[in-house]
Amino acid sequence: MTTAATRAAELRRQLERANHRYYVLDDPELPDAEYDRLFAELQKLEAEHPELKTPDSPTQRVGGAPSLAFAPVRHRQPMLSLRKADDEAALQDFDRRVREVLLKGSVDYIAEPKLDGLAVSLIYQNGVFVQGATRGDGETGEDITANLRTIRSLPLRIQGEAPPLIEVRGEVYLPLAGFRKMVADAEAKGEKPPVNPRNAAAGSLRQLESVITAKRPLAFYAYAVGVSEGWAAPLQHRDVLRQLRDWGFPVSELIEPVTGADGCQAYFERMGAKRASLPFDIDGVVFKLDDLAGREELGTVSREPRWAVAYKFAAEEAVTVLENVEFQIGRTGAVTPVARLKPVFVGGANVSNATLHNMDEVQRKDVRVGDTVVVRRAGDVIPEVKEVVLALRPADARIVSLPAACPVCGGQIAREEGEAIARCTNGLSCHAQLHGALIHFVSRKAIDIDGLGEKLLALVIDERGVATPADIYLKLNAENLAALERMGEKSAQNLVKAIDASRHTTFGRFLFALGIPVVGETTARDLAQHFGTLEALIAAAESDAKHAEARHVMQLEREAEEQRSGKKIRRSDAERAPAYPQLQAVPDVGETVAASIAHFLAEPRNRAVIDTLVAPVEAGGAGIHWPAPKAAADGVLTGKTFVITGTLPGISREDASALIEANGGKVSGSVSAKTDFLLAGEAAGSKLAKAEKLGVPVLDLDGLRALIAQN
Ligand SMILES: [Zn+2]
Repeated sequence: MTTAATRAAELRRQLERANHRYYVLDDPELPDAEYDRLFAELQKLEAEHPELKTPDSPTQRVGGAPSLAFAPVRHRQPMLSLRKADDEAALQDFDRRVREVLLKGSVDYIAEPKLDGLAVSLIYQNGVFVQGATRGDGETGEDITANLRTIRSLPLRIQGEAPPLIEVRGEVYLPLAGFRKMVADAEAKGEKPPVNPRNAAAGSLRQLESVITAKRPLAFYAYAVGVSEGWAAPLQHRDVLRQLRDWGFPVSELIEPVTGADGCQAYFERMGAKRASLPFDIDGVVFKLDDLAGREELGTVSREPRWAVAYKFAAEEAVTVLENVEFQIGRTGAVTPVARLKPVFVGGANVSNATLHNMDEVQRKDVRVGDTVVVRRAGDVIPEVKEVVLALRPADARIVSLPAACPVCGGQIAREEGEAIARCTNGLSCHAQLHGALIHFVSRKAIDIDGLGEKLLALVIDERGVATPADIYLKLNAENLAALERMGEKSAQNLVKAIDASRHTTFGRFLFALGIPVVGETTARDLAQHFGTLEALIAAAESDAKHAEARHVMQLEREAEEQRSGKKIRRSDAERAPAYPQLQAVPDVGETVAASIAHFLAEPRNRAVIDTLVAPVEAGGAGIHWPAPKAAADGVLTGKTFVITGTLPGISREDASALIEANGGKVSGSVSAKTDFLLAGEAAGSKLAKAEKLGVPVLDLDGLRALIAQN
């Protein structure tokens, strides 16, 4: 051997020994600076003498060139899966069957924690790690050798005397500290954090660039030996584990021999109690027959060995402290209270947020900031706060109240009477609601811009600064649309034409397009017909808002007086009258709808967007306009209210509505005593029944035409 070769071998030995002390035994002996110095020396030597580079060199742990794909690896011995026990009875069944086959009164098992990671197979030839693979389907896995080499606690060379061939099996996992760091790093970069350590470990192992894997704090535990050549296997599993330790593999300190089903159950309970304080996640425990000859006797049934069982923890609830409640604004402006929790490990994931659904839930569960709460999580479901541990409530626990202003845009938050959901009223310029609001705005029954789909809207929000519906008209043009991804010049021009065409609309469509909560297409059309102009509608809404406020004060005063006197006071006529008299005069508009309209139009930011939408193009507006209202008295159906139901022969409901409206009639959405006629087609349902019950005359399409002709 040359001097360089001797020195390289010496350095490799020293560095691997240091790695083992540090990562496996958790007992470092070499100062970091000294390690770095030796490492640098080895790297330099290998660079000068490439022939000295070996696959087991510690320099290989930093990762290498990216690979294009993972080659399939056929396992020399299938990697079986484990049968599962859900409860103590199933565990006793398992033990009973084992004893029956082995004809023994009592059996020893090796109990080990079940780490929530990825099973891998490692092949060592003459003591050198040459190939590592994932479990895959149990028969064939993927070659992830380069990535596995980067895991510091995984030996690249077996210590001491090694057989010519040995397959070591174990689990690659991400300790919780490493998982938390990955979450924090992802959040700092604005990336989506991994959901749980298992996913994070799997993602890290399946990196095509091993330099990325090398940066992830993955760890490894060995738990079994697969195929071997030239190795005299011991008689008991506990001796296999001892051998693995002697070879330099990390083996869990939590592994213990236990006796019988009772011993297994006691171990399970001990681990359950310990689980929360472990530096890694375990999702259960595994019991394996200690006697290896007995394993042969028991054999394997449908790819599950009969000598082992996994006993999983059922608990998917954990107790933690509610540190704060924040409010998120959904796509429709709905305000969702979100619990910010002291991070807790539950259901296989690190949970620091849980939904509280809505304010009714918050009140029903009486959740307060500072409370100790039970968090529940099942599978991939969003974690939720299940209940409060009232006995642990601190004296200064703070009651949760709905914020007055939207945390995203500062708009007013309103909650209509009887509604569980509170909403940001600033629907037209609240960024949280923008995408949803624009999808609605351009939809066919609203302002109707063909070719402006969900994905394109997301693009123009992000890349063209579209922040309100008015910006569609003000900020988009053929050039900047054509420059967007997957937009040709032709489609950009077509879209500009569609945007232009949408400027000419109807008042009803415009009102519907605004996306006022609980104002549907029919209500929008009724409002348009009733008020005729935007100015009239706004004036009515403003006057009604004052009226409702005055009525509310009246109600509060009466209630205060009732409390003072201890007597019930009759509500005055003024208090009994509609809160929003002008809006509620419109068919089908009740107090909830009226309040929603008044709130929406009272929001200055919504008004600013509306003003820009209807301002002429010359004045810097979007130039949306509609025909002036026809005088209401010019039709034969003036003063008559219609409701349409069922499928009409040869005519759409919209056209039927237009026919009625062209003749001065009104079309309303639901049947009431105020309805004059029900226009019923095929398959008319509950509306027909209701009309018959109320004695409302029912017409078919011919009947309607006759009515128009006859008048
Ligand atoms: Zn908002």
